[in-house]
Amino acid sequence: MLSFAEFVTKASAKGPPRPGIYLGIRMSLRAMKLLEISDPSEYHRKLIVVVETDRCLPDVIELVVGCRLGNRTLKFRDWGKMAATFVDLTRNRAIRMAALESLENEALQCFPQLPRDEALSRAYTTFVDEKIFQWQSVIVNFAPEDLPGYHARRVLCERCGEGIDFRREALRDGLTLCRACSGEAYWLQGGKV
Ligand SMILES: [Zn+2]
Repeated sequence: MLSFAEFVTKASAKGPPRPGIYLGIRMSLRAMKLLEISDPSEYHRKLIVVVETDRCLPDVIELVVGCRLGNRTLKFRDWGKMAATFVDLTRNRAIRMAALESLENEALQCFPQLPRDEALSRAYTTFVDEKIFQWQSVIVNFAPEDLPGYHARRVLCERCGEGIDFRREALRDGLTLCRACSGEAYWLQGGKV
């Protein structure tokens, strides 16, 4: 596994990394250390991360740990928190890591001479982990349909006819419906296309 500095270099390919990138790399590396995982690539689809923000953290986790939405190993809970839970399915262990609320103020106080982003990046590079994060051991019970490799019959929504995977259908008044038709649509009908 690459070092912190090497991941920073890798993340710099498209320009100087934002402070959150440094933070995400540190978080991922610490989580791997706590889970005693030296090479996450050996954990193909047996390492799952639940990320609680859609800022830069998911991209960094993909870079460092390799988990990604496209193979179902990265789960997104839209909670607006700089936090993530790293789950090792092979040993049934999980660590939830969250950035400390005091972190930003401390960083700015430590490097008052630097512009804000630089002060944060410097802090996220030099502070010890304990000053950046809190973490705890947790238990995550995924439903079988949430795990990579789950196969089940695809069902059709009885209202719109669209197919639904992974048991995401809902039963309403005896009808099998997709989430949109069951009342959870995130869109309103627009005009003609
Ligand atoms: Zn439907």
